[in-house]
Amino acid sequence: MIKAEHISKHFSGLHALNDASLEVNKGEVVCLIGPSGSGKSTFLRCIHGLETPDGGLVYLEGEALNPKNKESFRRLRNRMGFVFQHFNLFPNMTVLDNCTLAQISVLQKTPEEAEKTAMLYLGKVGLLDKKDSYPNQLSGGQKQRVAIARALCMNPDIMLFDEPTSALDPEMIKEVLEVMQDLAAQGMTMIVVTHEMGFARKVADRVVFLEAGRVIEEADSETFFSNPKTDRAREFLGKVF
Ligand code: ADP
Ligand code: MG
Repeated sequence: MIKAEHISKHFSGLHALNDASLEVNKGEVVCLIGPSGSGKSTFLRCIHGLETPDGGLVYLEGEALNPKNKESFRRLRNRMGFVFQHFNLFPNMTVLDNCTLAQISVLQKTPEEAEKTAMLYLGKVGLLDKKDSYPNQLSGGQKQRVAIARALCMNPDIMLFDEPTSALDPEMIKEVLEVMQDLAAQGMTMIVVTHEMGFARKVADRVVFLEAGRVIEEADSETFFSNPKTDRAREFLGKVF
């Protein structure tokens, strides 16, 4: 479904991503893991077109993501949902309006249709009763569940998560991981940057380990966690467990 080929990205001399490749099949969950600064966010942002790679190409079902071709770029990006570490909700809008805005402006739905879809997904993340609240009236875990519902309202084919639980208090991590696990169980294609190794081991089909901008190791999650091939991955797992 998604293919990222030989992606490179520099930031003023720093080689943040160095020839990184990744393929994700429909229905697969792939976790990107690695030390801080290894290029995980940059990789995810290049896949989503939030960053433009200096080299390499991202394909969604065979079609290249090319910012110069505005119509196809927009169409392909709209098929990917992105969930940020810091939620990125619109603070001046209710939960419901957060979930309907892009449906109306981007998908050209009527407010009634958009609201129906929003209610469906707010129900799925257990937050129907918060539809009229503002983000600052919610806990971190609730905010992140709204962000997930908002992304799902756009009916994406693939969901990208960048450390969705890293900004949360420990007691709220579980409620967000459970929503993500349900989504995976329903067959959503997902790429998840995470430090939650329990989640990666249990939910991911595959794990991709990055270090210094390179893909160092890639394996099915059971193999990766029980028998990592590289010293670097072994050392990393030794630190996080
Ligand atoms: P990770 O998500 O694995 O922690 P990042 O992809 O955020 O890593 O960053 C990889 C490297 O690129 C880091 O050294 C980081 O400081 C640098 N970097 C990321 N984004 C920018 C940016 N917008 N400008 C300059 N440097 C950046
Ligand atoms: Mg990051």
